[in-house]
Amino acid sequence: MSAIIMDGKAIAKSVQQSLVAEVEQLKKRGIKPGLAVILVGDDPASHVYVRNKEKACHELGIDSSIYHLPQQTSQDTLLELIQQLNCNEAVHGILVQKPLPAHVDDKQIIAAISVAKDVDGFHPVSVGNLFIGDDGFVPCTPAGVMEMLKTYQIPVAGKRVVVIGRSNIVGKPMMGLLIREHATVTICHSRTERLAEVTQEADIVIAAIGQAEMIKPHHIKHGAVVIDVGMNRLANGKLVGDVEFDSVKELASAITPVPGGVGRMTIAMLMKNTIQAAQASCDR
Ligand code: NDP
Repeated sequence: MSAIIMDGKAIAKSVQQSLVAEVEQLKKRGIKPGLAVILVGDDPASHVYVRNKEKACHELGIDSSIYHLPQQTSQDTLLELIQQLNCNEAVHGILVQKPLPAHVDDKQIIAAISVAKDVDGFHPVSVGNLFIGDDGFVPCTPAGVMEMLKTYQIPVAGKRVVVIGRSNIVGKPMMGLLIREHATVTICHSRTERLAEVTQEADIVIAAIGQAEMIKPHHIKHGAVVIDVGMNRLANGKLVGDVEFDSVKELASAITPVPGGVGRMTIAMLMKNTIQAAQASCDR
Protein backbone atom coordinates (compact mmCIF):
# COMPACT_ATOMS: atom_id res chain seq x y z
CA MET A 1 0.00 0.00 0.00
CA SER A 2 1.23 3.46 -0.78
CA ALA A 3 0.15 6.00 1.82
CA ILE A 4 -1.18 9.43 1.01
CA ILE A 5 1.45 11.89 2.23
CA MET A 6 -0.57 14.65 3.88
CA ASP A 7 0.84 17.98 2.75
CA GLY A 8 0.77 20.37 5.70
CA LYS A 9 2.62 22.99 3.74
CA ALA A 10 -0.09 23.17 1.05
CA ILE A 11 -2.97 23.14 3.57
CA ALA A 12 -1.32 25.83 5.70
CA LYS A 13 -0.86 27.94 2.57
CA SER A 14 -4.50 27.60 1.60
CA VAL A 15 -5.63 28.44 5.18
CA GLN A 16 -3.43 31.53 5.11
CA GLN A 17 -4.75 32.53 1.69
CA SER A 18 -8.30 32.29 3.00
CA LEU A 19 -7.33 34.64 5.82
CA VAL A 20 -6.16 37.41 3.48
CA ALA A 21 -9.76 38.40 2.70
CA GLU A 22 -10.62 38.46 6.40
CA VAL A 23 -7.73 40.81 7.15
CA GLU A 24 -8.92 43.05 4.30
CA GLN A 25 -12.45 43.10 5.75
CA LEU A 26 -11.07 44.09 9.14
CA LYS A 27 -8.97 46.84 7.60
CA LYS A 28 -12.11 48.28 5.99
CA ARG A 29 -13.52 48.51 9.49
CA GLY A 30 -10.39 50.37 10.60
CA ILE A 31 -8.80 47.42 12.39
CA LYS A 32 -5.37 45.95 11.77
CA PRO A 33 -5.02 42.66 13.66
CA GLY A 34 -2.17 42.74 16.16
CA LEU A 35 -0.23 39.91 17.79
CA ALA A 36 2.17 40.44 20.71
CA VAL A 37 4.75 37.72 21.29
CA ILE A 38 6.72 37.56 24.53
CA LEU A 39 10.03 35.73 24.30
CA VAL A 40 12.17 35.33 27.41
CA GLY A 41 15.81 34.24 27.14
CA ASP A 42 17.87 32.83 24.31
CA ASP A 43 16.54 29.35 23.54
CA PRO A 44 17.57 28.94 19.86
CA ALA A 45 14.50 26.87 18.89
CA SER A 46 12.17 29.48 20.44
CA HIS A 47 13.87 32.17 18.40
CA VAL A 48 13.22 30.21 15.20
CA TYR A 49 9.54 29.68 16.13
CA VAL A 50 9.08 33.37 16.94
CA ARG A 51 10.76 34.42 13.68
CA ASN A 52 8.41 32.11 11.75
CA LYS A 53 5.38 33.58 13.52
CA GLU A 54 6.60 37.10 12.76
CA LYS A 55 7.07 36.18 9.09
CA ALA A 56 3.54 34.74 8.84
CA CYS A 57 2.09 37.89 10.43
CA HIS A 58 4.01 40.06 7.98
CA GLU A 59 2.74 38.06 4.99
CA LEU A 60 -0.86 38.49 6.11
CA GLY A 61 -0.64 42.14 7.12
CA ILE A 62 -0.98 41.40 10.84
CA ASP A 63 0.97 43.71 13.15
CA SER A 64 3.44 41.70 15.20
CA SER A 65 5.33 43.06 18.15
CA ILE A 66 8.03 40.90 19.70
CA TYR A 67 8.97 41.55 23.31
CA HIS A 68 12.35 39.89 23.71
CA LEU A 69 13.27 39.95 27.39
CA PRO A 70 16.44 38.74 29.11
CA GLN A 71 16.57 35.31 30.75
CA GLN A 72 16.62 36.83 34.27
CA THR A 73 13.35 38.78 33.74
CA SER A 74 11.26 38.58 36.91
CA GLN A 75 7.76 37.19 37.23
CA ASP A 76 6.49 40.66 38.22
CA THR A 77 7.98 42.32 35.14
CA LEU A 78 6.32 39.71 32.94
CA LEU A 79 2.97 40.11 34.68
CA GLU A 80 3.20 43.88 34.29
CA LEU A 81 3.90 43.56 30.56
CA ILE A 82 0.93 41.21 30.13
CA GLN A 83 -1.33 43.67 31.95
CA GLN A 84 -0.21 46.46 29.61
CA LEU A 85 -0.84 44.27 26.56
CA ASN A 86 -4.24 43.23 27.92
CA CYS A 87 -5.22 46.92 27.96
CA ASN A 88 -3.65 47.78 24.60
CA GLU A 89 -6.45 47.96 22.01
CA ALA A 90 -4.03 47.52 19.11
CA VAL A 91 -3.08 44.10 20.46
CA HIS A 92 -5.67 41.39 19.77
CA GLY A 93 -3.59 38.31 20.58
CA ILE A 94 -0.93 37.67 23.21
CA LEU A 95 1.40 34.71 23.07
CA VAL A 96 4.07 33.75 25.57
CA GLN A 97 6.67 31.57 23.88
CA LYS A 98 7.56 28.47 25.87
CA PRO A 99 9.77 27.31 27.50
CA LEU A 100 9.93 30.06 30.12
CA PRO A 101 12.92 30.19 32.50
CA ALA A 102 12.67 27.90 35.55
CA HIS A 103 12.18 30.79 38.01
CA VAL A 104 8.98 31.85 36.23
CA ASP A 105 5.63 30.29 37.17
CA ASP A 106 4.17 29.39 33.74
CA LYS A 107 0.69 28.84 35.07
CA GLN A 108 0.44 32.27 36.67
CA ILE A 109 1.76 33.93 33.50
CA ILE A 110 -0.72 32.17 31.21
CA ALA A 111 -3.61 32.86 33.59
CA ALA A 112 -2.76 36.59 33.49
CA ILE A 113 -3.47 36.82 29.74
CA SER A 114 -6.92 38.18 28.94
CA VAL A 115 -9.09 35.26 27.78
CA ALA A 116 -10.20 37.40 24.81
CA LYS A 117 -6.54 37.62 23.69
CA ASP A 118 -5.52 34.04 24.51
CA VAL A 119 -4.74 33.03 20.91
CA ASP A 120 -2.65 30.06 22.05
CA GLY A 121 -5.69 28.65 23.86
CA PHE A 122 -3.70 27.74 26.99
CA HIS A 123 -5.62 29.89 29.52
CA PRO A 124 -7.55 27.73 32.01
CA VAL A 125 -10.82 29.31 30.84
CA SER A 126 -10.06 28.48 27.20
CA VAL A 127 -9.19 24.92 28.23
CA GLY A 128 -12.45 24.67 30.19
CA ASN A 129 -14.45 26.02 27.26
CA LEU A 130 -13.02 23.34 25.00
CA PHE A 131 -13.97 20.58 27.40
CA ILE A 132 -17.48 21.80 28.18
CA GLY A 133 -18.16 22.42 24.50
CA ASP A 134 -18.28 26.23 24.58
CA ASP A 135 -16.70 28.58 22.03
CA GLY A 136 -13.19 29.77 22.73
CA PHE A 137 -9.64 29.65 21.47
CA VAL A 138 -8.27 26.19 20.80
CA PRO A 139 -4.53 25.37 20.95
CA CYS A 140 -3.00 25.77 17.51
CA THR A 141 -1.25 22.42 16.99
CA PRO A 142 -4.27 20.18 17.71
CA ALA A 143 -6.46 22.60 15.75
CA GLY A 144 -4.02 22.18 12.86
CA VAL A 145 -4.29 18.39 13.08
CA MET A 146 -8.11 18.62 12.90
CA GLU A 147 -7.84 20.92 9.87
CA MET A 148 -5.57 18.40 8.11
CA LEU A 149 -7.97 15.52 8.82
CA LYS A 150 -10.86 17.63 7.51
CA THR A 151 -9.02 18.66 4.36
CA TYR A 152 -8.19 15.05 3.51
CA GLN A 153 -11.78 14.06 4.32
CA ILE A 154 -10.64 11.52 6.88
CA PRO A 155 -13.67 10.67 8.97
CA VAL A 156 -13.28 11.01 12.73
CA ALA A 157 -16.80 10.40 14.05
CA GLY A 158 -17.10 6.91 15.51
CA LYS A 159 -13.45 6.08 14.77
CA ARG A 160 -10.95 4.78 17.30
CA VAL A 161 -8.22 7.37 17.74
CA VAL A 162 -5.16 6.80 19.91
CA VAL A 163 -3.24 9.92 20.96
CA ILE A 164 0.23 9.25 22.37
CA GLY A 165 1.10 12.14 24.71
CA ARG A 166 -0.91 13.91 27.40
CA SER A 167 0.64 17.40 27.45
CA ASN A 168 -1.49 20.48 27.98
CA ILE A 169 -0.22 21.85 24.67
CA VAL A 170 -0.95 18.91 22.38
CA GLY A 171 -2.26 15.63 23.84
CA LYS A 172 -5.06 16.83 26.12
CA PRO A 173 -6.55 19.48 23.80
CA MET A 174 -6.24 16.97 20.93
CA MET A 175 -8.47 14.64 22.93
CA GLY A 176 -10.95 17.49 23.55
CA LEU A 177 -11.21 18.30 19.84
CA LEU A 178 -11.56 14.67 18.85
CA ILE A 179 -14.36 13.87 21.28
CA ARG A 180 -16.13 17.04 20.15
CA GLU A 181 -16.10 15.43 16.67
CA HIS A 182 -17.42 12.14 18.10
CA ALA A 183 -14.24 10.06 17.96
CA THR A 184 -13.58 7.31 20.49
CA VAL A 185 -10.33 8.48 22.03
CA THR A 186 -7.63 6.71 24.01
CA ILE A 187 -4.73 8.70 25.49
CA CYS A 188 -1.39 6.94 26.02
CA HIS A 189 1.67 8.26 27.88
CA SER A 190 4.98 7.11 29.32
CA ARG A 191 3.26 4.87 31.88
CA THR A 192 1.06 3.08 29.33
CA GLU A 193 1.67 -0.66 29.36
CA ARG A 194 1.92 -2.60 26.10
CA LEU A 195 1.65 0.56 24.00
CA ALA A 196 1.74 -1.28 20.67
CA GLU A 197 -1.30 -3.37 21.63
CA VAL A 198 -3.26 -0.17 22.23
CA THR A 199 -2.09 1.67 19.11
CA GLN A 200 -2.70 -1.44 16.94
CA GLU A 201 -6.42 -0.97 17.61
CA ALA A 202 -6.48 2.58 16.24
CA ASP A 203 -7.97 3.81 12.99
CA ILE A 204 -6.01 7.02 13.55
CA VAL A 205 -2.78 7.31 15.59
CA ILE A 206 -1.60 10.76 16.66
CA ALA A 207 1.96 10.81 18.04
CA ALA A 208 2.91 13.79 20.25
CA ILE A 209 5.71 12.25 22.27
CA GLY A 210 8.99 14.03 21.62
CA GLN A 211 10.94 10.76 21.03
CA ALA A 212 12.61 10.54 17.63
CA GLU A 213 11.09 7.85 15.39
CA MET A 214 9.71 5.86 18.32
CA ILE A 215 6.58 4.69 16.49
CA LYS A 216 7.40 1.74 14.24
CA PRO A 217 5.35 -0.49 11.93
CA HIS A 218 4.41 -2.90 14.76
CA HIS A 219 2.50 -0.03 16.46
CA ILE A 220 0.25 0.56 13.47
CA LYS A 221 -2.76 -1.30 12.09
CA HIS A 222 -2.70 -1.84 8.33
CA GLY A 223 -4.49 1.06 6.65
CA ALA A 224 -4.48 3.35 9.70
CA VAL A 225 -3.98 7.11 9.42
CA VAL A 226 -0.81 8.32 11.17
CA ILE A 227 -0.38 11.91 12.30
CA ASP A 228 3.09 12.84 13.53
CA VAL A 229 3.22 15.92 15.74
CA GLY A 230 6.78 15.27 16.96
CA MET A 231 9.67 17.51 16.07
CA ASN A 232 13.01 16.08 17.12
CA ARG A 233 16.43 17.31 16.10
CA LEU A 234 18.95 14.47 15.64
CA ALA A 235 22.65 14.89 16.50
CA ASN A 236 23.38 15.28 12.76
CA GLY A 237 20.96 18.25 12.62
CA LYS A 238 18.18 16.37 10.77
CA LEU A 239 14.61 17.12 11.88
CA VAL A 240 12.51 13.96 12.39
CA GLY A 241 9.12 13.17 13.90
CA ASP A 242 8.03 10.66 16.51
CA VAL A 243 7.18 8.17 13.75
CA GLU A 244 9.64 6.15 11.68
CA PHE A 245 8.28 7.62 8.48
CA ASP A 246 9.86 5.41 5.79
CA SER A 247 8.73 2.11 7.32
CA VAL A 248 5.33 3.23 8.67
CA LYS A 249 4.25 4.81 5.38
CA GLU A 250 4.36 1.33 3.84
CA LEU A 251 1.31 0.22 5.83
CA ALA A 252 -0.52 3.46 6.68
CA SER A 253 -3.30 4.73 4.41
CA ALA A 254 -2.25 8.35 5.07
CA ILE A 255 0.63 9.88 7.00
CA THR A 256 2.06 13.32 7.78
CA PRO A 257 5.75 13.95 7.06
CA VAL A 258 8.20 15.85 9.28
CA PRO A 259 9.01 18.49 8.22
CA GLY A 260 6.15 19.65 6.00
CA GLY A 261 3.32 18.19 8.08
CA VAL A 262 1.70 19.33 11.30
CA GLY A 263 4.37 21.94 12.09
CA ARG A 264 3.24 24.08 9.18
CA MET A 265 -0.33 24.02 10.42
CA THR A 266 0.45 25.38 13.88
CA ILE A 267 1.36 28.84 12.63
CA ALA A 268 -1.57 28.96 10.20
CA MET A 269 -3.95 28.25 13.11
CA LEU A 270 -2.26 30.93 15.21
CA MET A 271 -2.93 33.43 12.43
CA LYS A 272 -6.55 32.25 12.28
CA ASN A 273 -6.97 32.70 16.04
CA THR A 274 -5.40 36.18 15.93
CA ILE A 275 -7.79 37.29 13.21
CA GLN A 276 -10.70 35.78 15.13
CA ALA A 277 -9.60 37.77 18.21
CA ALA A 278 -9.50 40.97 16.15
CA GLN A 279 -12.97 40.23 14.73
CA ALA A 280 -14.35 39.61 18.20
CA SER A 281 -12.88 42.92 19.39
CA CYS A 282 -15.05 44.75 16.81
CA ASP A 283 -18.16 43.04 18.11
CA ARG A 284 -17.55 44.04 21.72
P1 NDP B 1 5.72 16.85 26.32
O1 NDP B 1 7.12 16.45 26.63
O2 NDP B 1 5.08 17.91 27.12
O3 NDP B 1 4.80 15.55 26.35
C1 NDP B 1 5.22 14.35 25.82
C2 NDP B 1 4.21 13.28 26.12
O4 NDP B 1 4.69 12.07 25.58
C3 NDP B 1 4.00 13.05 27.62
O5 NDP B 1 2.63 12.92 27.91
C4 NDP B 1 4.77 11.78 27.89
O6 NDP B 1 4.22 10.99 28.92
C5 NDP B 1 4.64 11.05 26.57
N1 NDP B 1 5.74 10.11 26.40
C6 NDP B 1 7.06 10.34 26.55
N2 NDP B 1 7.75 9.22 26.33
C7 NDP B 1 6.85 8.25 26.05
C8 NDP B 1 6.95 6.88 25.73
N3 NDP B 1 8.13 6.25 25.68
N4 NDP B 1 5.81 6.19 25.51
C9 NDP B 1 4.61 6.79 25.56
N5 NDP B 1 4.46 8.11 25.84
C10 NDP B 1 5.56 8.82 26.08
O7 NDP B 1 5.75 17.24 24.77
P2 NDP B 1 4.74 18.13 23.88
O8 NDP B 1 3.37 17.58 23.96
O9 NDP B 1 4.95 19.56 24.14
O10 NDP B 1 5.34 17.84 22.43
C11 NDP B 1 5.37 16.54 21.89
C12 NDP B 1 6.15 16.58 20.59
O11 NDP B 1 5.47 17.41 19.68
C13 NDP B 1 7.56 17.14 20.71
O12 NDP B 1 8.39 16.49 19.76
C14 NDP B 1 7.39 18.59 20.30
O13 NDP B 1 8.57 19.15 19.77
C15 NDP B 1 6.34 18.46 19.24
N6 NDP B 1 5.52 19.66 19.05
C16 NDP B 1 5.30 20.03 17.77
C17 NDP B 1 4.53 21.13 17.50
C18 NDP B 1 4.28 21.45 16.09
O14 NDP B 1 3.95 22.57 15.77
N7 NDP B 1 4.41 20.47 15.18
C19 NDP B 1 3.98 21.96 18.55
C20 NDP B 1 4.18 21.44 19.89
C21 NDP B 1 4.95 20.33 20.11
P3 NDP B 1 4.14 11.48 30.47
O15 NDP B 1 3.01 12.47 30.52
O16 NDP B 1 3.86 10.24 31.21
O17 NDP B 1 5.46 12.10 30.77
